[in-house]
Amino acid sequence: MLILPDDFQPAMLLPAGIEQPAWWFIFVHGQLLVRATGAGMELPLASIWPFANWPPVRRLYLGTLQGQPCHAAEVMNAGPPPGWRFENLRGLWTRMDEAMLGVAGHALQLIEWDRTHQYCGHCGTPTERRAEERARVCPACQHAAYPQLSPVVMVRVVDKGRILLARAPRFAPGVYSVLAGFVEAGETLEQTIHREVAEEVGIQVYNLRYFASQSWPFPHSLMIAFTADYAGGELQIDGREILEARWFVPNEMPGLPSPMSMAWRLIQDYLAHHA
Ligand SMILES: [Zn+2]
Repeated sequence: MLILPDDFQPAMLLPAGIEQPAWWFIFVHGQLLVRATGAGMELPLASIWPFANWPPVRRLYLGTLQGQPCHAAEVMNAGPPPGWRFENLRGLWTRMDEAMLGVAGHALQLIEWDRTHQYCGHCGTPTERRAEERARVCPACQHAAYPQLSPVVMVRVVDKGRILLARAPRFAPGVYSVLAGFVEAGETLEQTIHREVAEEVGIQVYNLRYFASQSWPFPHSLMIAFTADYAGGELQIDGREILEARWFVPNEMPGLPSPMSMAWRLIQDYLAHHA
């Protein structure tokens, strides 16, 4: 799971007088600067910006992880320093410390938000960072922009020991997952589930139960997972958001999504109870 660890303390400003080295979460196009060591992947660790000839385009103080200060930064697309490389966060799963990867997901979302809110969405004036909270504010009209989150509901539909899984066009070949969709303005999570399931596969569900939630920083989603039971209707795919949908039994499962995803957890939970 890609989650912010409990021993991470968010903060806006580096407290004065702190001289201990900090972790630097440095990104280009959503990829994180890392270096492979015998123990896994490490980040730059330095009390000041670690690459003198390679200035950041933007930087944000994040807070502390296990008492260690953490900064996020974005650099121009240049070759990384010798020994370092940029990697996708998804690809770092299991190779990088999980707490560190959780903070990296947080850092990536804040960097993306900062970069895409440089101008006021209302009047176009360049925005300024507010010191006391995570916001960018327009000095002309006071419009404030906060880091955004898009809620996505995900639902595991089960019928008599079978689980409904579907293929979306963006999935790798052979991979099936649970159904998911963005929450529309004005909807409850339950309404989103009923609408998405009906639109994507043409069936009805009932007995919705909350399962868990997870931040998903690609780019700024909050996944909210539910379980449900099949109520009726014939499987009928829309052919656009969903290419194929089928019922699966535990010993005939297809390829599954990444173990760092909420979908994987939902499916594993089903398998644990139906093996
Ligand atoms: Zn404005």
